[in-house]
Amino acid sequence: MDLQLRGKVALVIAASKGLGKATARQFAREGAKVAICARSELIDKTAAEIANETDTQVLSLRADVTNQADIERVINTTVEKFGGLDILVTNAGGPPAGTFDDIDLATWETSLNLTLLSAVRLVKYALPHLRQSTAAAILTITSTSTKQPVQNLVLSNSLRLAVIGLTKTLSQELGNDKIRVNSILPGWTYTERVEELINAQITKTGETKQAEITKINAKVPLGRMGTPEEFANVAVFLSSPAASFVNGVMLQVDGGIIQGTF
Ligand code: NAP
Repeated sequence: MDLQLRGKVALVIAASKGLGKATARQFAREGAKVAICARSELIDKTAAEIANETDTQVLSLRADVTNQADIERVINTTVEKFGGLDILVTNAGGPPAGTFDDIDLATWETSLNLTLLSAVRLVKYALPHLRQSTAAAILTITSTSTKQPVQNLVLSNSLRLAVIGLTKTLSQELGNDKIRVNSILPGWTYTERVEELINAQITKTGETKQAEITKINAKVPLGRMGTPEEFANVAVFLSSPAASFVNGVMLQVDGGIIQGTF
C-alpha cells in the first residue's frame, strides 16, 4: 500500500528516542521530510542516524515542550526549512511515576504543563500551517492509562484524559478545515521510559528487573511488551493520507491489555 507520504512534511515531537524516534524513522522511510525535537543533544545524533538510513531530509531541533518560545520556534523553523507542515505528532516525556500521596502540588502543575499544555501550544502554533495543507493530520500520543488506570501512575492516569478530550474536540472542530485528529494509546512498549518505570517499581517492591518484566508481560494477552517499531507502523499509517477517512479515533496499540469492550 502507498501511504502517499513522499514529500509530505511531518513534525514529530520528543523524538530523540523511544516512540517518537521510531515514528520519525518510519515517516522518513516512507519518504516524508521529517523534523524532530527534544531537549538533549541526542536529537542531533538521532536525526543524523535517520538521515543516513533513508533518502530524505531530517531536521533536528533542540527544544523543551514545556517552553512556549521553544514550541513557536520549532513550528516556524520546520515551516521555513520545508515550506509547510502536513503532519504534527504531539509527544513528550512521561510525567513522574507515583501514587496520589507521592505527588506534591508543584509536580501536578509542572506535569500539567508537560502533558496537556505542550499539546495545546503545539496545536495553536501548528494550525495556521496545517490549514494550508491538503493532507493535514494531528496525532497525539497518549496512553492506555486513559482507558484503564495504571498502578503508580496517577499523573498519567489523570492528565492524559485531558489530551484525549482535546483530541476528540479538535477532530470535531477541525473537520471543516479537512484536518484529521486522532490519538494512539500505547500500552507497554519497551523503551527507556518503561525502563524508568520498572526501576521505580523495583525500588518499591525489591524484586529483580526480570521479575518485574515478567509481571508486565503476564498482563498482556499477547504475552509480551510491544516494540517501538510496532507502535510507529500504526502511528504513521494513521497520520498518512492512506487513512483519509479516519478521524476522532483513540486507537489502542497495546497487545490487547484493555479489557473493556469499547
Ligand atoms: P522515552 O523513551 O523516555 O522518550 C522520551 C522522549 O521525549 C525523549 O526523546 C526525550 O528527549 C523527549 N522529551 C522528554 N521531555 C521532553 C521535553 N520537556 N521537551 C522535549 N522533549 C522531551 O519515552 P517513550 O517510551 O518513547 O514514551 C513517549 C510518551 O509516551 C511518554 O509520554 C510516555 O509516558 C508515553 N507512553 C509510553 C508508553 C510505553 O510503554 N513506552 C506507554 C504509554 C505511554 P530529551 O530527554 O532529550 O528531551
